[in-house]
Amino acid sequence: MSTLLQPLDVTAIRKDFPLLSRVLHGKPVVYLDSAVSGQMPLPVIERMSKYERDEHTNVHRGVSTLSQEATDFFEAAREKVRKFIGAGSIKEIVWTRGTTEAINLVAQTFGRMTVKAGDEILLSAMEHHANIVPWQMLAEEKGATLKVIPMNNAGELILDSLDELITDRTKLLGLIHVSNVLGTVNPVKQIIARAHARGVPVLVDGAQAVPHLRVDVRDLDADFYVFSGHKLSGPTGIGVLYGRLELLEAMPPWHGGGSMIRNVTWEKTTYLGAPAKFEAGTPAIAAAIGLGAAIDYLTELGLDRIAAYEHDLLAHATERLERIPGLRILGTAKEKASVISFVVEGIHPHDMGSLLDGDGVVVRAGHHCAQPVMTRFNVPATTRASFAYFNTRDEVDVLVSSIIKAIELFK
Ligand code: PLP
Repeated sequence: MSTLLQPLDVTAIRKDFPLLSRVLHGKPVVYLDSAVSGQMPLPVIERMSKYERDEHTNVHRGVSTLSQEATDFFEAAREKVRKFIGAGSIKEIVWTRGTTEAINLVAQTFGRMTVKAGDEILLSAMEHHANIVPWQMLAEEKGATLKVIPMNNAGELILDSLDELITDRTKLLGLIHVSNVLGTVNPVKQIIARAHARGVPVLVDGAQAVPHLRVDVRDLDADFYVFSGHKLSGPTGIGVLYGRLELLEAMPPWHGGGSMIRNVTWEKTTYLGAPAKFEAGTPAIAAAIGLGAAIDYLTELGLDRIAAYEHDLLAHATERLERIPGLRILGTAKEKASVISFVVEGIHPHDMGSLLDGDGVVVRAGHHCAQPVMTRFNVPATTRASFAYFNTRDEVDVLVSSIIKAIELFK
């Protein structure tokens, strides 16, 4: 596939990211932390700033030209999201504050509506806390239980037992598309088909997938697909819940207030349809418009080209890191995207993170909001480098030299 693609012009792309020319502790910054939050390119920052400078008002309010204009920009961004993930209708695209809020929305509406005492919610062993805690809260409230699809030492889900794990009591399967710790790309289409064969709906956490892979929710046949703007070269404070329309229509509202009602009397309120029903109050307008601009930016670069480029970076980094004595990579699945977690014998990941920081290399050290994954691999934390389309092989080499330097220091 990649051989037919024009390579990315990374030198030109880097000019769109002012932060990349910063100097940290006297060293050029090497930003290898896009899994925590992606950097925004100038066209996104400028689009948001134009909105705030020249176009700012509220949306879905009244007849003023400004309000109609803002509503058009805001809804155009929703259409960009729809197209980006291949949804059938903009009614299926609900704005949220991010992945976490989107999952909580589903748990508190769809979950409360369908899960009863004795029911089961099936999750994978590599979920982020965002796709564990809301279900645990719901399970506690309802007297339901969580079940877990296990994984092997490479960080791949063990799917042999899937048909036994899904029972007549399973009300939902929650599945991470790309692991934020291990980088594993899960075979979501296949898993969804197997869940659907048993009548179980699937929620996919796509926070780490949409920045790196072409996602088509209809091809995957996902029931819910969620992600955050800030991991997709967009701003914080905005995210997306995609839901199949018949499910969204059947779900009760979540927050109550303005913008989600059809009619209010003291006796009774009736609600608008999806997505407005789930969007009470003033939304993050500039952020939504910014996310639309980020999607334009990524679409112009081409998700396939991004995927091919990042795959090369990942392969280069893996090959170089594997050569370092005492360093162990966590997550060696056949299908991986964009992140490498590692531990080094005798050096705590936090110390490693701080030493790398001293060299201007920005990585994440910690449990990555995935403590069950840490427990599974018997480590307290890892250091994680994550790559984006603006990173270079030279930056990977800086990471590697900096790790070697840190190891020397600890000898
Ligand atoms: N799911 C995954 C896989 C993530 O990597 C993250 C963020 O790290 C989240 C969910 C939570 O995203 P947010 O904090 O934007 O809601």
